[in-house]
Amino acid sequence: ILHNFIPSYESSVTNNLWSQGAFLLGKLNCDEFAMGSSNETSFFGNVTNPYGDKIVPGGSSGGSASALAADLTPATIGTDTGGSIRQPASFTGTVGLKPTYGRCSRWGIVAFASSLDQAGPMTNNVEDCALLLESMSGHDSKDSTSAEIKVGNYTSKLTDKIKGLKIGIPSEYRVDNMPSEIDNLWKKGIDYLKDAGAIIKNISLPHTMYALPAYYIVAPAEASSNLARYDGVKYGHRARGKNLIEMYENTRGEGFGDEVKRRVLIGTYVLSAGFYDAYYIRAQKVRTLIQKDFSRVFASGIDALLTPTAPTPAFKLDDELRKDPIEMYLNDVFTVTVNLAGLPAISVPGGISENGLPLGLQLIGRPWDEGELLNIADILEKETVSCGKPVRWW
Ligand code: GLN
Repeated sequence: ILHNFIPSYESSVTNNLWSQGAFLLGKLNCDEFAMGSSNETSFFGNVTNPYGDKIVPGGSSGGSASALAADLTPATIGTDTGGSIRQPASFTGTVGLKPTYGRCSRWGIVAFASSLDQAGPMTNNVEDCALLLESMSGHDSKDSTSAEIKVGNYTSKLTDKIKGLKIGIPSEYRVDNMPSEIDNLWKKGIDYLKDAGAIIKNISLPHTMYALPAYYIVAPAEASSNLARYDGVKYGHRARGKNLIEMYENTRGEGFGDEVKRRVLIGTYVLSAGFYDAYYIRAQKVRTLIQKDFSRVFASGIDALLTPTAPTPAFKLDDELRKDPIEMYLNDVFTVTVNLAGLPAISVPGGISENGLPLGLQLIGRPWDEGELLNIADILEKETVSCGKPVRWW
């Protein structure tokens, strides 16, 4: 619906980057309106993963992740509403950080689900990630949800020391049917952090199992409201119609892809009179319980949590199983909790799958403590270098 649209103003995060000397090499592919986990819902077609012919790069920021993994650029950015920075980073052996909600301005970024969306850095290593986060974040009066909290000097936080830090391992992330290679990756990550001097604690986040259903109610609800602005009047594609309503219907019918339409339908349904309390309000209550789970764990002295980033390595393009949207949504099981709770989290390369594809480990941090999160990630990255690098398919 926006394929010929040229934005008339710059976003605050990109403005921050340009004002510090960065420049734009080009724009990268993503799932339509950032809805997807494989890059396949893109109107322009998908990109592929440099580590596997006919293998997805993850989504929605699959273009950013692939460009990094293929060494086309040293740094890219993305947005993360339910994992769109971290899951593609995991699938491509790159680093992706979703900041605390409010750390980066959302001004000038296409809105998907406004209470979940955050922009963040995607890079080939943790140090670059720290540099980029520092440059792109900060308070912005043009975004009412942007926080007036000082941006840290994140590179100076990379101290090479995590001795005595408490790392929580949430038992609920050991989901049914998780491939043993993901479980082994997680165990290795735990060992690496232990070797580096961290104290490992088993913890519980009891409402985790409700996160995915709650996300797939809250995100489509907000999306259906945000996408109402694409009506053929103000910008983008416009279809013809006998009257105004028919013009709206034809514009949106022609302009939106199937996944976007699915989300608009779900979102409109859960917000409609009669279903609002049963779905939307209930999902918001679940969201509060999920936030409280994390707050309780951090209040008990835990500094960060370690989990796998995704329950699988990158999967095949056009995968039969994932033609069922629910199966596709299940890939977001470890990432959506963080967005619901507004927390910072980072994916770092953790190892290689049995079929030679990258696997990511996720660290989840205390709100506003991206500095410590990056510090732990930096150590984890150094430890996992010994796993070697996956090999590009070409
Ligand atoms: N894969 C998730 C979804 O489709 C997350 C997308 C995102 O973070 N933008 O909603």
